[in-house]
Amino acid sequence: MDPDRHDGVMDILIRKGQIAAIHPHPLAGESSADYANGKEVVDCSGCVVSPGFIDIHVHFREPGFEHKETILSGCRAAAYGGFTAVCTMPNTLPVNDDPAVTEFILKKAKQANLVHVYPVAAVSRGLAGKEMCEFKTLQDAGAVAVTDDGMPVVGSRMMRKALEKAGELNMPVMSHSEDLELAAGGSMNEGRVAVELGQRGIPNAAESIMVMRDIALCELTGAPLHIAHVSTRESVRAIREAKRRGINVTAETAPHYFSLTEDVVRECGANAKMNPPLRLAEDRDAIIQGLQDNTLDAIATDHAPHSESEKSEAFEKTPNGIIGLETAIPISLRLVHQGCLSMMDLIRKMSTQPAKIINIKNELKVGRPADITVIDPDLPHVIDAGNFQSKSRNTPFQGWKTNGKAVMTIVGGRVVYRNKTL
Ligand SMILES: [Zn+2]
Repeated sequence: MDPDRHDGVMDILIRKGQIAAIHPHPLAGESSADYANGKEVVDCSGCVVSPGFIDIHVHFREPGFEHKETILSGCRAAAYGGFTAVCTMPNTLPVNDDPAVTEFILKKAKQANLVHVYPVAAVSRGLAGKEMCEFKTLQDAGAVAVTDDGMPVVGSRMMRKALEKAGELNMPVMSHSEDLELAAGGSMNEGRVAVELGQRGIPNAAESIMVMRDIALCELTGAPLHIAHVSTRESVRAIREAKRRGINVTAETAPHYFSLTEDVVRECGANAKMNPPLRLAEDRDAIIQGLQDNTLDAIATDHAPHSESEKSEAFEKTPNGIIGLETAIPISLRLVHQGCLSMMDLIRKMSTQPAKIINIKNELKVGRPADITVIDPDLPHVIDAGNFQSKSRNTPFQGWKTNGKAVMTIVGGRVVYRNKTL
């Protein structure tokens, strides 16, 4: 299935890393001769064959925090999770605010030789919000977007300048929308559960205020703005309204925001702590509606590995984030099984629309690189972090029984993951 092209039972011929032919099954004519040439045939009956899934929001922690994740272990997790490409956030040590760091990431990705890695560079030096980075040199080194993710761009003037500069280069600015003053000291959603657990809360407005500011600056500059990890109903409403007025904004949410609520913090503790935090059922439902009406263009994981010792500290001290690469497809397929999204829509959110946001081509089309994700949508699956390729284990989905997962990941015609069922 390619949302822009194919929906049916097809045969796909891969030759020299590229898609050489796509025909209604059975493959006819010249291409069928390849079967006789001893080419490997993979029977994908019952599966969905999609353009490669792309996760535009991951933290691979290298350089600087290799005990949490390396580019190699992150790429393995991506391949096993069904992703053919990822965008790495710049909050490493050193920060990806210099072409040398961008080049280092790409060098490590090349050595890993598994999935495509598209680095996202910083807006400001050291994510400090004071001095803007040289976007052009970062883009020349391979960066596809800019963000201070982990931190908001606090100054409105800086954000305006960033949008203007990045816009000239046709790069989106990815907004980590957070009002630091309003969120200060909070470690989970502001509400009943925070009171019960004796934690300080973060109100929805801490996110939506910045979403609205950045939309205003997007309107002012006309430059592409991408809102990361949307978690609140107010943010969905603001983005929906902005899109109706033709503003150049795109947005993503993460699987945990449409599948979990703040209640999960009671049992999962630190493994349900992330920023923005899990919210209420009303927010979760608004996120699902936002996906349905395309207010939210993409599902990204915000894959944020942390070691077990870091996640064992007191709740308020433990770092934010959960891993997501190896749970994203099983958890997102629940939306399809529940009738909230069609399979084609899910493919749009995790494959073709993420590609458009970062301006890369990703299609099932003759002549294109064979970057393909094969999903068995009904395969019974139990999520077990013990089997993850990621170096970290911080997931709230441990033990979840789901239906469906990626069974094959093909990058440039090469199989980088194959499940034993296929
Ligand atoms: Zn963020």
